[in-house]
Amino acid sequence: MKNRVAYFVAKSKIEMGEAEIPAPGAGEVLIKVRHCGICGSDVHNYIAGGTGKRIISFPFVLGHEFAGEIVGAGEHVKDLKPGDLVCVEPGVGCGECEFCKSGRYNLCADMKFMSAYPNEGCMKDYVVFPAKNCFKLPENLTTIEGAMVEPLAVGLHAANRGGVSCGDTVVILGVGCIGIMTLLACKAKGATNIIVADVFENRLNKALELGATAAINSAAGNVAEKVEELTGGRYADIVFETAGRPETTLIAADIVRRGGTIVCVGNVSEVTPYRFIDINMKEIDLKCIFRYRNVFPLALELISRGKIDLKAVRPDIFPFEDAQKAFEYAINNGKDVLKCVLEL
Ligand SMILES: [Zn+2]
Ligand SMILES: [Zn+2]
Repeated sequence: MKNRVAYFVAKSKIEMGEAEIPAPGAGEVLIKVRHCGICGSDVHNYIAGGTGKRIISFPFVLGHEFAGEIVGAGEHVKDLKPGDLVCVEPGVGCGECEFCKSGRYNLCADMKFMSAYPNEGCMKDYVVFPAKNCFKLPENLTTIEGAMVEPLAVGLHAANRGGVSCGDTVVILGVGCIGIMTLLACKAKGATNIIVADVFENRLNKALELGATAAINSAAGNVAEKVEELTGGRYADIVFETAGRPETTLIAADIVRRGGTIVCVGNVSEVTPYRFIDINMKEIDLKCIFRYRNVFPLALELISRGKIDLKAVRPDIFPFEDAQKAFEYAINNGKDVLKCVLEL
């Protein structure tokens, strides 16, 4: 048995190599990875060689969206055994700080998150990880769906933070992968009017196919006017900014109803000039999200019971050896690709 690894060896370069198969320690399991998604952050790292202050020193291993089969377990692992299929929550908090202890572990300053340098990712055959981060897949789920639970967790956390409930009108600005996951989460939580906006027609069509009730091409017209028209002048209970752009962040203030909520999901790295009086006068709740917390079990339950259909997302699947090709495909077909998944 060998442990094939997709080594990230230089900017825009992945090389297949091999490593030892690691042994699980106490509380850990050995997972044979079956499917691994390529995240927007992986693509960013692939192009730029790092994110923000995290400059990668090569070689490194990317990837944190994965599902696979348990093939070994260390001491004290009770609930998992070889043969179980699991998806994995890729962040491990310190367990000791006030955030970990209060359940907001996504805010732990010592969080070790797979593929966030220097924590190695999962683009390899065998991964050792804490058993407490592994969630058994219900019998009717595949590991392809399992690998998409992580991005879905972002959408569910966003919908939770926005307080989406039955009958709500929501607007989602940007329907790339995270926008689509937010849409699926809002639908599962009972939002009845789900308006999406994007500049790409094919993304809008996909969103309509997955449950959006109206789509606005923001390249073709004024989003605020369209939302006004679609909601009879009431605007949206909750607006999700998922495009990660200053323009959409600003539009959010114009299309949220009085007393509504804006959830900033996208990573906007540019300085964005907000005129706060616009949201003060409407008494808006402005909320931010960072990754997710405590939602993997809910995600699995919703998929298993048919409330969320991840199969319909139809990811593009690539054989593991073609990892480099998959990254290039994701970059060159950005507007057509929702999710690229490696099959190991
Ligand atoms: Zn991700
Ligand atoms: Zn902590």
